[in-house]
Amino acid sequence: MLSLQLPGPLEIGAAARTTVAGAESNVAVALARLGHRAAWAGRVGADEPGRLVLRTLRAEGVDVSAAATDAAAPTGAMLRERRVADLARVHYWRADSAAARTTPEHLAPALAEGARILHLTGITAALGPGPLAAVRAAAHHAHTHGWTVTLDVNHRARLWDTDEAAHALRPLLRYVDILIASDDELPLVAGGPDDTEAARVEALLAAGPREVVVKRGAGGAEHHGPDAVSHAVPALDVPVRDTVGAGDAFCAGYLSGLLDTLGPEARLARATALGAFAVASAGDWEGLPHRDELALLDAVPGSAIR
Ligand code: ATP
Repeated sequence: MLSLQLPGPLEIGAAARTTVAGAESNVAVALARLGHRAAWAGRVGADEPGRLVLRTLRAEGVDVSAAATDAAAPTGAMLRERRVADLARVHYWRADSAAARTTPEHLAPALAEGARILHLTGITAALGPGPLAAVRAAAHHAHTHGWTVTLDVNHRARLWDTDEAAHALRPLLRYVDILIASDDELPLVAGGPDDTEAARVEALLAAGPREVVVKRGAGGAEHHGPDAVSHAVPALDVPVRDTVGAGDAFCAGYLSGLLDTLGPEARLARATALGAFAVASAGDWEGLPHRDELALLDAVPGSAIR
């Protein structure tokens, strides 16, 4: 979708930077920068924001041949105002957008192409009944064709309440191979109100996913596998510039590790490195690394690479 980034409140007429936002497109860009083949199968309107979205993704090396333009609906949009120094406020215009009108039929051409991994997020599922049905159909298709299905819960309370999200996402788990969630999102997808986190992880591993990956912000991340073995890695110690997009970057790092056949700990390490790039740079995806920059954060803080 179109993203307008304002350094101050809109009401005073702050100048905006125009860019592109979206959880799945952030993941696709991050993967393309790391040298993987990544395709994005979203929908935009036949308008200037739609052209910006497709042009940006193309320029980043993301395959948009299965993305589609809806002549009868606008591209979704968001506006982010930096209200005070470390607090931003986000406004969305995506009801009745091209993305909100997605149906299962729209994804058929993308699915026909085949893939090793299908990455889904709870955000698209929350856009309405059509997108939810499309997410379900895509997950089912990928599962039955033996692709790896990854789901980032990515709960957005502005789009649906926790009961609705739980009701929609829990039945998806049987098609999901790798579930990625923030620690506070685990109750949405597993267990009852009084369950411990360990019990929720166990319930998830019994419900379909063979791996559960838990994001803990500045606390790092954990991986839980089928053999009851868990791994934890700390977050990188970086200056925080803009935390938006950290979760998407993390997912992309994890998927990149998976595509490179790394073990769970090395996958987590790449995921946390990507998350650190996202928080230490401005923009949701603009500061993410190319493959030859992966070790950049090992440089001495405050130094210049000459
Ligand atoms: P969002 O939805 O806002 O993109 P999220 O809640 O999905 O974020 P987080 O847990 O906040 O995801 O962050 C994902 C990962 O990014 C963390 O597991 C961590 O590796 C990295 N990360 C997040 N915050 C920081 C931080 N302050 N310093 C270093 N790394 C961070």
